[in-house]
Amino acid sequence: ADLAMFAAKVTGSGKVVHYTGHMRADADRAVTLGAELQGAVERDELVLRFQPIWPVGASTPDGLEVLVRWNHPTLGLLGPDRFVAVAERTGTIGAIGHWVLREAVSQLAAWRTELGPAADELHVAVNLSVRQLQDPTLVDEVAAMLGDAGVPADRLYLEVTESLLVREGDRAGATLHRLRELGVTLSIDDFGTGYSSLATLQRLPVQQLKIDRSFVLGLGDDPSRLPFVRAIVGLADALDLDVVAEGVESDADLQAVAALGCAHAQGFGLGRPVPARDVPALLTQRVPAELAPVVPAS
Ligand code: C2E
Ligand code: MG
Ligand code: MG
Ligand code: MG
Repeated sequence: ADLAMFAAKVTGSGKVVHYTGHMRADADRAVTLGAELQGAVERDELVLRFQPIWPVGASTPDGLEVLVRWNHPTLGLLGPDRFVAVAERTGTIGAIGHWVLREAVSQLAAWRTELGPAADELHVAVNLSVRQLQDPTLVDEVAAMLGDAGVPADRLYLEVTESLLVREGDRAGATLHRLRELGVTLSIDDFGTGYSSLATLQRLPVQQLKIDRSFVLGLGDDPSRLPFVRAIVGLADALDLDVVAEGVESDADLQAVAALGCAHAQGFGLGRPVPARDVPALLTQRVPAELAPVVPAS
């Protein structure tokens, strides 16, 4: 019964549910993964991928989103959708998030040394979980990591999902203000899906909106979605925020976000997440000609 209770917490909303065999198996798996995740950082099982973020019209990226994977001993490479939620519920996300931040910042420092001017403007964008924003030591830790690595604070972007901001309200707000005072850039992830209000945007020291890929994917073939992206870009412009279109998969998507005036784009069509060793080539090669965005006249 204890296991079932724990499993209910680990796998779902905590609502009372009637367990089917299938659900019980899922729950057991989540419990096992949660337990195995405890030592994953110490066992060096986590790895990072880096996905380029492009200024629309530029031939090299100016940012890299840092995406965690878990090299599980028997299940292979697991994506964050398989374990981040479990890590959030069991608290392991604290150690994981700390490792991701430190690794991302020191990796950026290594590229800055190796590539010189080609990496001057480069930033890394790290996803923050709600637990990290609740941790009173986060701000000092970030400051120490940047100091140790010799990376300017404005080369670190921190992404916080819109739904987290709505849920956490003031508590997250205080931490975000202190992070902003450090000089890091704050970005709202998955924008358009989380019911944030204009008041939220006014209250928080945010510099960037990332348009959720559900608005962007297939945009080039579905004009009915253009007004939504246009509205978000208009909002960003009015508030003097940078904007990134996520989920650009095709040339048509890219042309559409360029025509709407999105400053930045990210997506499989522009570059998949890659291991660190593949990043230097990305920063020195040009974007494939067929994907080079046409910047609209005025
Ligand atoms: P996200 O922050 O919105 O990250 C973008 C996700 O969309 C990534 O999936 C990326 O591979 C995927 N993606 C990028 N371009 C495209 C595209 O053109 N088409 C499609 N279909 N997908 C695209 P990934 O790596 O599986 O990450 C999923 C989510 O896991 C992330 O969503 C983020 O919320 C979370 N996550 C990843 N790394 C971390 C981390 O270190 N810490 C925390 N707390 N969360 C993380
Ligand atoms: Mg993100
Ligand atoms: Mg996102
Ligand atoms: Mg997303």
